[in-house]
Amino acid sequence: MIWPFTRRPAAPPPVEPALWRQAAAGLPWLRAIDPARADRLHALVAEFLRDKAIVPVQDLQLNEVQRLRLAMLCCLPLLEFGREGLHGWRELLVYPGAFRVQRSHVDAHGVLHEWDDELIGEAWDRGPVILSWADVRADIAAPRDGYCVVAHEIAHKLDVLDGAMDGTPPLPRDWQRQWAADFQRAYDALCETVDAGRASPIDDYAAESPEEFFAVCSEYHFSDAATLRAAMPKVAAHLQRFYGAPLLPAAL
Ligand SMILES: [Zn+2]
Repeated sequence: MIWPFTRRPAAPPPVEPALWRQAAAGLPWLRAIDPARADRLHALVAEFLRDKAIVPVQDLQLNEVQRLRLAMLCCLPLLEFGREGLHGWRELLVYPGAFRVQRSHVDAHGVLHEWDDELIGEAWDRGPVILSWADVRADIAAPRDGYCVVAHEIAHKLDVLDGAMDGTPPLPRDWQRQWAADFQRAYDALCETVDAGRASPIDDYAAESPEEFFAVCSEYHFSDAATLRAAMPKVAAHLQRFYGAPLLPAAL
């Protein structure tokens, strides 16, 4: 949609090339990236750094290279979707490690239940993205193990852009219909497997809800695309179109 009375903000300053090279060298996803995608990533990251606050909390300190790596990781899932994927949130809170959050729920009888959850990442509707730095670093150190907390939380942010966190991000209508049908079938099959107590081909946290299914499958796209392709070829094909071809070179 074009808004006739708003002007596009000035282009953000580019990231200094030496700093970019230093940050990129530490991220396995960027080692073999093609020049066209690298250029798109650069533009997204510059915009990310201009518009979002990266806020380390507790006693965590982040240097310039570490901040840039976080911005790069957050922008990798947007290479095909584009800059609209940055909309809807402004703050990236980074804890040193897993963090505790208090949950509460009033049940059908009006009784308040309260409990603590330990999380490594969280993305609130309209709120910040929250990450555990220790877990981001673990994903970088072991990039092929099926986990990628940044991809998981950014998937939630993309999912909620259309106003509903339901496992389907905003897409052209025909694609969205096919996506919803293929994801639902794969999700139902996974739930059946998990309910029957059989070994699940991907992390069974994906059976929690359709939105967690999308987020967990997104982690596999970035960290173990072969497993996802073997287990759920249609879901893998949608994610390849949505995120672009997997960035990690095929494992030897
Ligand atoms: Zn989640």
